[in-house]
This record gives sequence, C-alpha cells and structure tokens, in this order.
Amino acid sequence: MSRAGVPEPLPAALVDLLARVSAAYDEMDRERRRNDRATTLMSDELTDLNSALQHQVGRDSLTGLPNRSLFMEWLRNGLSVAERTGQAVMLLFVDLNDFKQVNDTLGHHFGDLLLKEVATRLEACIRTGDTVARFGGDEFTIMMPAIGDLQQAAGVAERIIAAFSHRFMLENNEVAVSPAIGIASYPSDATTCDALLVAADAAMYRAKDSGGGAYHFYTASMDAEAHERTVLKHRLAKAWTKGEFFLVYQPKVLLNCGSISGVEALLRWNSPELGAVPPSRFIPMMEESGLIVEVGEWVLDESCRQSRAWSEAGAPPLRIAVNLSARQLRQPGLPGTVCDILARHGVAPDAVELEITESMIIRDPEYAISVLNELRDMGIRIAMDDFGTGYSSLSYLSRFPFDSIKIDQSFIHAMTGNDDVTAIVNAIIGMGHALKRRVVAEGVETEAQRTMLGELKADEVQGFAIGRPMSPDCLAFLLMGPAAVPLIAETDCP
Ligand code: C2E
Ligand code: MG
Ligand code: MG
Repeated sequence: MSRAGVPEPLPAALVDLLARVSAAYDEMDRERRRNDRATTLMSDELTDLNSALQHQVGRDSLTGLPNRSLFMEWLRNGLSVAERTGQAVMLLFVDLNDFKQVNDTLGHHFGDLLLKEVATRLEACIRTGDTVARFGGDEFTIMMPAIGDLQQAAGVAERIIAAFSHRFMLENNEVAVSPAIGIASYPSDATTCDALLVAADAAMYRAKDSGGGAYHFYTASMDAEAHERTVLKHRLAKAWTKGEFFLVYQPKVLLNCGSISGVEALLRWNSPELGAVPPSRFIPMMEESGLIVEVGEWVLDESCRQSRAWSEAGAPPLRIAVNLSARQLRQPGLPGTVCDILARHGVAPDAVELEITESMIIRDPEYAISVLNELRDMGIRIAMDDFGTGYSSLSYLSRFPFDSIKIDQSFIHAMTGNDDVTAIVNAIIGMGHALKRRVVAEGVETEAQRTMLGELKADEVQGFAIGRPMSPDCLAFLLMGPAAVPLIAETDCP
C-alpha cells in the first residue's frame, strides 16, 4: 500500500512497539485458555496500552491498517489535492456480510483471524496509490485518488468480490464471507469527507440489500427515505447485538381509588449514531425483518425479570403488560415460549397481560383465536390495544378472549369539548362493560380528561397525566416511595 499525498511514514520505534503489542495479544489468547482471570487483567492493561498507541500512531493494532482517524486525515488531504488538480477521488466502503455469525459461532479469536486475513486480501486488490483502512468493526474503507473513471473503481470492487469468493482458512476452519461494497465519488457525489462517507455508506447498504458479494455506486436518485430505511434496518440488527435496547414502564391506575394497577413495558432504542429512535419508526421495521420475534421474546423475558425484582424489593402486586407483535402472534409455539419465560422468573400467569391490536388478528382470525385461547387457558390476560383505530369489528369483541379493551388515545385527545367523540367513548365503555371486559383509557394527558373518564366509568387510565414511561428505578420509587409522588418525566429518570 502506498501513501501518496499523505503524511510521513510511522517512526520505526512505534512500528516496533505495535508489533510487540500485536505479539502480546497472540500470547494473551493462548494464555486466556489457560487462565481466564489473570488474562482479563492482562487484557485490560494491554487494551489501555494499545489504545494509547493507536491514538498516537493512527494504526489498527489487529490488522496494521490505518484506523478511522488516520484514514479521515488522509482522505481530507486526498480531497484537497484533488481540488487543486481537478481529479476525482473514489471512496469504497466495504462491510462484511455474516461477520457476526463467524464471531458468534467460532468466537472472537477466529473473528480476529478473519479480519486480519480480510485486510491482507483487500490490500492485494487495490492499485498502487490507493489506501485501505480498517474503519471500525468489520468495516473497511478504500481511498482511490487520481482516478480516471468509474470503471476503475468498479474493477477494484469486482476484484475484491472475486478475492472473497475463495473461502478463508482460519486454523483448519473454512469460513465463507462476502463483501458489500458502496462506492461514492468526489466531487460528483459529495465535496466533503463526511458527505462522501455518508454517500459510500448509503451505497454499501444498497449493495447489502442485494445479498452476497455485491457493489453499488451511490446515485443521487437514491431516494432519501429508502436510504434511511435501509440504514435503519441494518443499524437495528447491529443495535440488537450490541444491546442498545432497553425498557421503560408506564403506570396504569384504577380510576375509582387512584392506586397503580399495573405497568406497560415499552421498548426504547438509544442509537449512538441516530439518537433516540421512536418505536413507531423501528418496530414496523423489526416486524418487516423478523427481528421482532427475538426482540419481543427478550421484552417479555426482561419484563418478567423486572416484575420479579420489584416484588422481591417489596413492591405491591403489579400486573405487567407487554405488547405483542403480529409476527410474534403467528410464531409457532408462542404459548410454550411464554410459559417457559414465566417459569424461569417465577411469575404467576395472571400477573402478565399481553396487548394485541385489532389489525394483528384480521389476517387469520381463527388462528389468532386459538392461540389467544391457549394463552388465556394458561391464566394470562389479554388486552385489545388501540381500540377504535383498526377495523373495530364488534364481532371480535365477543369472539376474542379479551379481558380488557384499551381505548385508543386519539379518542381521548379529541374528547375534550367534542360531544360526539365523548359519546363514542361513552359507548365503547358501555359496550365493554356489557361484555364484561375492563375498559382502559390510553393517552390521558389532562386532569379534565381524567375527570371525564371517571364520570364515564372507565376502569383504568394510562397517560402522561398519571405518569410518563419511566425507568425501573423511578417506578420502584413510585411504588414504594412516599405516598404523594410528583410526576416523573421519562427524561428526568436517573
Ligand atoms: P402502545 O402499546 O399503544 O403504547 C402507548 C404509547 O403511547 C407509548 O408510545 C406511550 O409512550 C404513549 N403514551 C402514553 N401516554 C401518553 C400520553 O398521555 N400522550 C401521548 N401523546 N402519548 C402517550 P411509545 O412508547 O412510543 O410506543 C408506541 C407503540 O410502539 C406502542 O403503542 C406499541 O404499539 C409499540 N411498542 C412499544 N414497545 C413495544 C414492544 O416492546 N413490542 C411491540 N411489539 N410493540 C411495542
Ligand atoms: Mg400497548
Ligand atoms: Mg395503545
């Protein structure tokens, strides 16, 4: 790899030190198998030393390639040279498909071996004057300065795909991985380093969507929304493996006495790159990709674990509501999965309520009825969520084994000052009671709404006026702290 137009080569002493750190890592791996505890300490020391070194020299200690910060510096230089000379610069963003699977099935040692081997193969594919870097995790970037046309970049991408078509041999383990490559060009696609990276990244996700080894050029016609969806879908899968999800809990209170009857578990995703992403954006995407099945199971498991923890801490009995997705409901063996989770945490079935929406049952009502009956026979409670927004078929209310109906928040918001909407809410409450279902009002934001729902004889209320979704600690405080607790905003939680 040449470094035309880039800073001076590394001092020999630092290169030597890096080599020694790398050798120490290999030794550490051997040692880890013999003595886990001692190796953890050693690993911490080496990691500290290593990151200090990386900071100084801008090299990735595993592969020896430039790391993200050094690459960005070189890319900036490359673009300013190109600006003066009027030449184009191509940026290739390479992501490994199935790298996670290698790490998960063979372990990190083999994941590391694979990354080293990938670095070697990538270096063999580039032209003299190009730069390849390890950008982070299983992502690599390639800068191709002074490039004549797109065909040259396509040629490199094709060489990379061909190079990956041979399996990787990792200590007698044969591993197949393919690259997804996105290509963006300066100045036609973007004129700054960051924008060029975003464009190459977007093109890479498009390549990933094609499946297998593939490359894709960034095009201005890449519809922004489609791009955002693709990025979100891939980030979601990574976020799940990195544990970026957590649960918050929103209380429900009984209207007649004001005491907390239960809580609803609500999923949250705090992405380091995108910030807090609302469930309305990421849950449909998880549903589409099927990730919701795994995540939904975790939500139930974590809610039951939390419910048990509150009870052991002395909280009064509390029913925990968990939202089910359409995919989960269709998943064969759902009642068995639920039963296993309850048993694992020692939670009684009637302490759990599963919330489903009308639209989830419309596709195959007979199947939904049989699954819900099975769950109900186990003692689990079922709630119809967001009532009034879907098909609102009255026959469902009598045929489906619901214990409660949650009136959608749109009715509650529109109720104030609107007699027609109030009449509808009144009718839903009356109908629910006639069918011996409990009626819960969602999205109660004001005292006026709460009072009106009391007059209409709703059973329970949930909404910002009662309490926002909050952390488990905040909820414990609400349950076990002094009787008069101020409302705690989700954002104010510790
Ligand atoms: P949902 O089950 O109907 O949950 C109630 C939603 O209303 C929550 O939004 C909650 O934060 C919000 N909310 C509660 N009180 C008020 C209020 O007074 N005013 C207003 N404006 N909003 C209020 P969130 O957490 O954004 O969740 C949205 C939807 O995402 C949920 O609607 C549910 O359908 C879905 N969802 C959330 N967590 C999960 C999950 O773990 N699994 C599944 N499958 N879906 C989930
Ligand atoms: Mg719900
Ligand atoms: Mg709802």
